[in-house]
This record gives sequence, structure tokens and C-alpha cells, in this order.
Amino acid sequence: MSQVVVRFAPSPTGPLHIGGVRTALYNYLFARNQGGKLILRIEDTDQTRYVAGAEEYIQKALAWLGIEFDEGVAEGGDRGPYRQSERGAQGIYQQYADQLLQQGDAYYAFDTSDELDAMREALKAEGSSVQQYNALTRGRMKNSLTLSPEEVQERLNSGEPYVVRMKMAEDEDITFKDVVRDEVTFNTAQLDDKVLLKGDGLPTYHLANVVDDHLMGITHVIRGEEWLSSTPLHVALYRALGWIDTMPTFVHLPLILNPNGKGKMSKRQGDKLGFSVFPTLWTDPETGNVSQGFREDGYLPEAMLNFLALLGWSPGDDEEVMDKARLIERFSLERLGNSATNFNIDKLNWFNQTYIKEQEPVALLPLVKPEVEKAGFELPSDEFLGEFIRLMQERVTVIGDFVKDAPYFFQAPDSYDEKMAKKRWKADSGPLMTELKAAFAGLSDWTAAALEQATDDFVTAKEVGKGKVMAPLRLALTGVAGGPGVYDIAAVIGREETLKRLEAAVAALG
Ligand code: GLU
Repeated sequence: MSQVVVRFAPSPTGPLHIGGVRTALYNYLFARNQGGKLILRIEDTDQTRYVAGAEEYIQKALAWLGIEFDEGVAEGGDRGPYRQSERGAQGIYQQYADQLLQQGDAYYAFDTSDELDAMREALKAEGSSVQQYNALTRGRMKNSLTLSPEEVQERLNSGEPYVVRMKMAEDEDITFKDVVRDEVTFNTAQLDDKVLLKGDGLPTYHLANVVDDHLMGITHVIRGEEWLSSTPLHVALYRALGWIDTMPTFVHLPLILNPNGKGKMSKRQGDKLGFSVFPTLWTDPETGNVSQGFREDGYLPEAMLNFLALLGWSPGDDEEVMDKARLIERFSLERLGNSATNFNIDKLNWFNQTYIKEQEPVALLPLVKPEVEKAGFELPSDEFLGEFIRLMQERVTVIGDFVKDAPYFFQAPDSYDEKMAKKRWKADSGPLMTELKAAFAGLSDWTAAALEQATDDFVTAKEVGKGKVMAPLRLALTGVAGGPGVYDIAAVIGREETLKRLEAAVAALG
């Protein structure tokens, strides 16, 4: 077979939804697995839905995830331009619309929106269950099938607004192969005569999509299931344009559902359950509303990729943690699932924990630093932060947890957990801590091991249980229960700070 060429073809109508990200990812994994090419094509022919900044957002969000394109608006390439508005300006689509008109596979329609409404009303009144422009109704509308050639020409010459519609067969089965669903059949009686070219001279999605997939040599169309019902029209277009022999293989990906399994995963549900549906932060250019993305919520791109890859695909065994290289190696279309998958935030959290644990602390520095600053703390040295990260990375779910769960690395506690204080700070804790402080002050080596040794020697000499010393020590240093090892904490915050905190705790708790 010839080289695989696939495309991700978003419309810049807003931020990329997580479902779109998954589509882009599967195209990417397939292209890389096959040694093929991946194109980013911007489908911006619907100017009424164009949203400023959306195209840039899509590019940046995918770059954050490590989904790279071989060709596209930014990358360039031989198959450009890669923006449909620019392709339209070159007359690419008009040419094929003309071909379809000449062949009689398409026709001009001059109906005004009032006339279209009237048609629907009339059909409703007649008790017709579908009200569409199709083989049954086109004969009573104003189009080049019902008007004389002279009248059509006159209307065109006078600049009257028109659209070009596809002339669908009245009653014909259109069957095509889909990798996920196998054989799919639609009868044209269920389909309408879709507009191919709009009044503004620009093509609709359907015409532009088919023309570009053909001209760009796309071998596989991997896209969301919502496009399945458009595919019979696309097949009809491939046929009419004489391209059926090189028609791409279709791969329609089942939906991603809300966590409760009800309905397509939506921003509304995400908001309700407290998670994002966008990869990165999005600011709506019209309302100014800001939506957090997974990046801002503290997820690593590596974790997102791994999680999304398994949201509709499986390697066929129980291997789960796969980095990008491994996903590329294992990905195949044959192992795509054929039913919808629930979005499972717990699973994503698990992947995020796993990937945070695996990182070298220095790799997390650029992510943790802004969190420290955001919390209003002075930024310590990289060495200090590296140690802090090393101690905390086993215990966090998202990046924000580092500072949120352990502010005591940056600031002495200003209060002490009441329950813990009541239970673990006894009458003799104050004197013990004062003595321990003296023992610590004399240490020549300030390491976790030396601190532990000193504490062990101290409890042996005092003949007290270790817990009688360690619990108040932890309370003094952190103000709370739990967290990394208490000697590790002391080692990181340093001698001076440790001694100061011990003194402050004795003063506060007695
Ligand atoms: N522009 C379409 C979208 O926004 C692309 C669909 C396709 O991949 O054919 O999803």
C-alpha cells in the first residue's frame, strides 16, 4: 500500500474539546506507527462560526501535548495551502462544484429562507415526518431542475443569491466500509440534498472536506462518530467526482461520554464535576470568560496522552502505562473499541500520579515554581525545590498539590492542627522539644540520617518511646499530621529554621 497520509481537520469555531484532542492523537499515533504523514488542515469555510484565536489555540494546545504535524499552516508542505479559506480563494472548490453542475450531479437553488420555511410548514401540514429538501420536494422548489435554462441564466446574471445543492438519488443504498463499524449502509431516501456551495461562494464542509481529502492524498479519514451520517454524502461525492477508487478508508471513533455514561462529554458536566474539557486555558474572545484547561489544573501532557490513548483504544493486553514512543509502537486501528467510553477522571488522576512520580525532580521545576509564587512564597533555590519535589512527588495527584499539601516547606506553621496537638502534644512535650533542639543544634552534619540518629540517641538516653518525640517534632515543623518523613523535612528546611520552629512550638503549645 502507498504511504499513509492522515489529517486532523478542526474547524476554528472555539477551543479544542477533549474529544477532538483524542481524534488528533489517534491520527498522530496511526501516522507515526505507519511511518506516514500527518497534516493539520484548518476547515474555516463557515465564516459565521469563525472564532478569533481558535486556530492558534488548537495549534498550541496540540503542541503542549506533543502532537506534532508534518504539514500544516505552520509547518508548510507541498499539499498547501492548509487553510480552506485560502484554498477557496484559489478557486479550488468552485472548479469541482462546476464539474458537478455540468454533470447534473448538482444544481442551483434560488429559494429564499422564507420559501424554505414555507416548504417545511407545508410538509408538516401534509403530515410528512421529514421536512427536507430532497428528491421528493426539489420538484416544487425554485432551482435549476424546475426553472428553464434561460431563467436560471437570467437569475445568475442578475446576481440573485443562490446555493449549489447535491442531487441525491431518490432511493438508493449507499454502503461503505468503516474500520470501527465494518459495513455501514444508508438509504438516500433518508438524506437531503445538502448545500455544497453557499451564497457567499464558499464551499460547505462536505464539498471542501471531500475535495481536500482527495487532493491531499488522504488515505484514512479518522474522525468522530458525529460525521458518520455525513459519510454517505461524501461517498456520493467521491463517486460523482470520479474518485471512488482512491476514496480514503473511514474510521469513525465512538463518542466519549460523561463520567455517568449519560450523554456526550460536555463542558457543562465537566464544570459540575470540577474538571476541564479543554487541554489548556481558553479565553472566550467575545465574553472574556476564562475556562481552565487540564494544563492549568495540573495535569502532565504525558499523562493526558496515555489516558486519552486508552479512551477508545486498547493494546489488547493489560499494559497500561505507555509513553508516547510506546503508544506509537503499539497503536493499531484494529484495536479501536466500537462502543462509547466514559470519561473517567479517577483514571486520569491515577495516570497523572504515575507520571509525576516517574519524573526527574528537575523536570518538574518549571511547573512547581509558578505554584510557589502563586501561593505568595518567596522562591527558594533550585536545589531546595528539587529536594522538596523529590519528597512530595510520591504523594500528589496534580501539580497544585505540591504546595497546597505542604506549605510548611516555605513557611513556618502559623497554627497547629488542634486534633493532633491534643492527642500528641503532652505535658512533657515542651521540655522534650527544648532538649531535642539542643541536641540538634550541636549536630555537625545536617542530613536526614544524622537527624534520625540524633533522635534515636536522644530517646534512648531519655528512656522515652520514639513516638513521644517524633509526633511533637512533626507538629512543630509542619503544624499538621502526615506528609513526608519528618527528618527529610527538617533536612530540607535547614538547621536554623528547624530550631526556630521547635522554639516557636514550645512557646505556643507549652
Ligand atoms: N471540520 C470537521 C470538524 O470540525 C472535520 C471533520 C472531519 O474530520 O472530516 O470536526
